[in-house]
Amino acid sequence: MKETVTFSKDAANLFFHILTGCNLRCRHCYINPDQHGTQTLPIKTIEAWLEVFARRSHAANVIFLGGEPTLHPDLPQAVQTARNLGYRSITIDTNGYLFHDILDKLSPQDIDYFSFSLDGATAAVNDRIRGDGAFRQCTDGIRDAVSRGFHTSLIFTVSRDNIHELPLMPSFLEELGIERFFIQVLGLRGQSAGVARKDRRVSRAEWLESVLGTAEAAVDLGIVTVYPKVFLDLDEPFECAGRVADNYFVFPNGRVYRCPLCEDHPVHSLRIEEHQLFPTEPINEKDLFALDIPEGCVMNKLIQPDNLAYNDQGDPEYKIACCLLKEELQPK
Ligand code: SF4
Ligand code: SF4
Repeated sequence: MKETVTFSKDAANLFFHILTGCNLRCRHCYINPDQHGTQTLPIKTIEAWLEVFARRSHAANVIFLGGEPTLHPDLPQAVQTARNLGYRSITIDTNGYLFHDILDKLSPQDIDYFSFSLDGATAAVNDRIRGDGAFRQCTDGIRDAVSRGFHTSLIFTVSRDNIHELPLMPSFLEELGIERFFIQVLGLRGQSAGVARKDRRVSRAEWLESVLGTAEAAVDLGIVTVYPKVFLDLDEPFECAGRVADNYFVFPNGRVYRCPLCEDHPVHSLRIEEHQLFPTEPINEKDLFALDIPEGCVMNKLIQPDNLAYNDQGDPEYKIACCLLKEELQPK
């Protein structure tokens, strides 16, 4: 069954970067310490901020991120606090190194998913992107988590460096015991915004050719598969999640964004100070969400204009969807 997952209008999502430090240096890392800070949040601050968002949005989903969140020694306590505060679901995004024996300190009942990041079906391709040894460590981590009964998902960020291995992923994920597969598109943020990386984004033709076939193969193997729509026909409706959804991308320096494409710039619309959430002054990302343009997403046009194509009259040939708009394929 194929379903377009519009933004959850009845549930909030808290993407909580509890630190920006990481043991890896992935080529496409979107963390930008100048904009996001270099702090590791103390557990008391994490708990206070979890409370702020629990008060603001009933039964939000929380995703703990970094950097590498398992580098934080108090992550198990943060998970417990999120559970006690009534968060609807708890996910830990990890590069698979699973520091501080995190699997010994949590039980499968404590969290909904461990979400692993892997960018290749082979060590050769993955480790070129994520660093030597990352493939082995991540796949060992997945096997360990699955063998202990944790639910697992996997995020694969598609670029020119690995798109040829995308078709190999479904059978590999089945072998690993992964339940949910997130195909992501490389965004021009953080490291990827560098000139040397800009040409690593795949074209519309490459995206349409590879992604759907792989998603269908994965779902045939019983794996729930989610991928961003990216391209919209001109007659398809466009919606900006910044206007209609309840997403918070929180960084250790207190910046809170509503749109991930804005994260390289000081245009956050909220900030946390002394454990309270405040709106920021205009001009900020909210002013951008309000703009209607024929190309769809305003931020895409500003930071990734190469995604667009125009006809001889200067009209766009298609629209770019909100990066948060996903297709979800459910096994029958
Ligand atoms: S594992 Fe994640 S946070 Fe660490 S370098 Fe890679 S992309 Fe960045
Ligand atoms: S990605 Fe584009 S459409 Fe989505 S929230 Fe950001 S500005 Fe809006």
